Amino acid sequence: MSQSANEFVIEHYEKKIYDQKQLLEISKALNSTLDYRYLIDAILNICLAQLQTLNAAMYLETEVDSQLFRMEQSFKGFDIGPKELNYEIPMDSPLIHFLAEKPKATLLSYILTIPELSEDPVVIFLKELNAEIIVPLNAKGRVNGLLILGEKMILSEYLEEEKEFMTTLASLAGIAVENARLYELATVDMMTSLKVHHYFQTKLKEEMDRCRKKSTKLTLLFTDVDKFKVFNDTYGHQAGDVVLIEVAKQLIDHAGRHDIAARYGGEEFCLVMPGADEDAGFEMGERIRKAVEAMSVKNPNTGEEMKVTLSVGISSFQTSDRNNKDLIERADKALYQAKHSGRNRTICYKQ
Ligand code: GH3
Ligand code: MG
Ligand code: MG
Repeated sequence: MSQSANEFVIEHYEKKIYDQKQLLEISKALNSTLDYRYLIDAILNICLAQLQTLNAAMYLETEVDSQLFRMEQSFKGFDIGPKELNYEIPMDSPLIHFLAEKPKATLLSYILTIPELSEDPVVIFLKELNAEIIVPLNAKGRVNGLLILGEKMILSEYLEEEKEFMTTLASLAGIAVENARLYELATVDMMTSLKVHHYFQTKLKEEMDRCRKKSTKLTLLFTDVDKFKVFNDTYGHQAGDVVLIEVAKQLIDHAGRHDIAARYGGEEFCLVMPGADEDAGFEMGERIRKAVEAMSVKNPNTGEEMKVTLSVGISSFQTSDRNNKDLIERADKALYQAKHSGRNRTICYKQ
């Protein structure tokens, strides 16, 4: 072999080893997170960096039992308005069937040459979006999402090894996404989208341990809807559910990046605020309470406007706390005081 041919072979293998190392790192990163949003963002960023494109998006299942894929909010680059964002890809579309048979990175230009696919509205939509390459995600033997990329920054075709890289990445991403989705399903309350009780207790324990080790602060908010029995009796249970969803949304919207909004049970919700002292907790409690007071929810049956108020109890971590129960009990006592001093107020625990 000539010197230059040798160099070419060595370079080729070096590149292969580099790609394998990258994939190993990526695999580790993807398997270390169960946070659905974070995971999707990570996968899209890996695509941008590795394939030198400015456009990447992911289509994933919308709900537990849905037969549709919809674009994830954290798409990168593509020119996307509400119409594109809400576009739904049916799982039984010809394109998905094709990709299930051939689960690898495929150029849209190739797909367009296949007569039975070129007419598929999904393919036409993806062409209008300026997608260049499509990769199916797979888990448990079925397509569980799509990864699409736009044109490369230096306007060239995707290389064969880049397609291979995408195919391998998609197989890792498919499993990671499925795991994160199952974890989310198991830890999120279906009706309110708040974290479930068990998750709350587990995280609260972790945060209390952190307080002990690092001498940081931690504040817990307990909220309970006022006179909700009467509300249900007046408007019906279904209308009650609609209101609870809106109250929960206020907690979720007000929660900081590291706060945990959870459903303690029934119409009792809570917010764990790592790093926050009692004053910060009180401010947060008041913001949420006032937001709920200002809310007006339409009765799904009659169209009339319905209103509720919220009482909030607050307790902060003390070094003498032995377990979750100690902190929870104080928040509950503060909530009891809020109820008994007239409701629709926020009270911090005082001995
Ligand atoms: P208070 O101001 O003292 O809190 O009065 P309250 O009537 O709200 O009393 P309490 O908190 O004990 O009552 C909770 C009520 O919330 C009883 C239950 O029917 C209702 N509830 C609990 N979970 C749900 C739910 O998922 N949907 C609906 N619609 N109602 C619920
Ligand atoms: Mg209650
Ligand atoms: Mg109540």
